Amino acid sequence: MAPSAVVVGGGIAGLASALALAGTGWDVTVLERSAELGEVGAGVALSRNAVAALGGLGFSDDDVAALGAPTRAEGTRRSDGSPILTIPDTAASSVAVALVGVHRGRLHGALLARARAAGVTIETGTRVDDVAPGGPDGRPAVAAGHEADLIVGADGVRSATRSALFGLSPTYSRYSSWRAIVPREPQVDTLRQYWGPHAEFGVMPVSADEAYWYGYVRMPEGRRFADEAAAARGRFAGWADDVARTIDLTAPGALLRHDVYSLPGGAPSYVRGRVALVGDAAHAFLPTMGQGAATALEDGLCVGLLIGHPVARGGSLAAALAGYDAARRPRCRALGRAARMSAVIGSHLGGGVRQRLRNGLMRLTPASLVGAGADAAMGWRPPAPTEPA
Ligand SMILES: Cc1cc2nc3c(=O)[nH]c(=O)nc-3n(C[C@H](O)[C@H](O)[C@H](O)COP(=O)(O)OP(=O)(O)OC[C@H]3O[C@@H](n4cnc5c(N)ncnc54)[C@H](O)[C@@H]3O)c2cc1C
Repeated sequence: MAPSAVVVGGGIAGLASALALAGTGWDVTVLERSAELGEVGAGVALSRNAVAALGGLGFSDDDVAALGAPTRAEGTRRSDGSPILTIPDTAASSVAVALVGVHRGRLHGALLARARAAGVTIETGTRVDDVAPGGPDGRPAVAAGHEADLIVGADGVRSATRSALFGLSPTYSRYSSWRAIVPREPQVDTLRQYWGPHAEFGVMPVSADEAYWYGYVRMPEGRRFADEAAAARGRFAGWADDVARTIDLTAPGALLRHDVYSLPGGAPSYVRGRVALVGDAAHAFLPTMGQGAATALEDGLCVGLLIGHPVARGGSLAAALAGYDAARRPRCRALGRAARMSAVIGSHLGGGVRQRLRNGLMRLTPASLVGAGADAAMGWRPPAPTEPA
């Protein structure tokens, strides 16, 4: 009989894990609390490592390109639009910062279609409140009355699975983010990021005729505005003309805002009993490196390669889980640290002399250093599948 897995949460990490496990012969059920499966959100920048993970999940480069708009990060600008750091458009540096801008709904829809085609059962309207982790060589794990050989906790930043295992909750970043999909203007052909005191604005293409923008700003937790678009316009007043024009393209009702939470340091282990944590459940980063969805895809693929593959071939679950934790935790911790560092020098930096000092130092940064930093984060390649001992 095929080994069984229950995946808690049908977001990007959950669907990637389900697809990867089904591909190695597991019988997989996804439990999703929402009545309908879909992705709230606007755009996502798929960096090279995200594209590599999607490759491991069976997407060709052309499949990924067809999901959105292949482009590149162009560097950062001051709030008035003048460049701080420009990444030259040469062959070498463009590869380092290449990305595909994608509408989140399209990425999610593509993963869902492939998971269904691979035989994954999706059970919507099922909220998991508690998880019994079982023992890797003994009792099965249980979630919402479903027993399984493996449970994958993919239930996001407020993960009930993580909470049951480690009692850990996320903390408010003190930042909130407006996001929207708008009609694409012809000059929007790269990821363009603007930094000002305690704020960042970004815009990139996500298809031939759509662009995605975000405005990430310091704000008290839970703040609400009667008119969110007017609040965004007010917060970015005085920034480059492109910023105001992009906000003004937003259709009524198309503007989202979410307070941003993170889990500094991540979970102390990504495995316990028969449970593996993936995505924001394991390591909710600050969004300042744009690596949350990318690592959710990496994690999902690794669940298949490092746990699904060996266990379906008779290998030990305990050894496979230990291998998954050893492969994923150091990498994600390093990315979490990089995201915090990027916040400190970027969107979380206060005003006045700090901005001038940062901008001056960054103007002296050689492009080769930026390329090397991008390679460390985004040059990730999928590991070889673990073969059972
Ligand atoms: C402002 C902002 C910008 C970002 N930009 C980028 C970017 O450009 N690039 C990038 O790579 N990442 C980006 N990210 C991060 C990225 O969006 C997340 O890291 C990623 O979506 C996490 O995926 P996930 O599947 O782990 O969690 P989620 O997407 O949160 O999915 C969790 C799923 O579990 C379900 N669920 C939750 N609790 C339960 C329960 N108890 N029982 C059953 N189901 C449950 C939810 O309904 C949901 O479907 C950004 C994040 C923010 C906040």
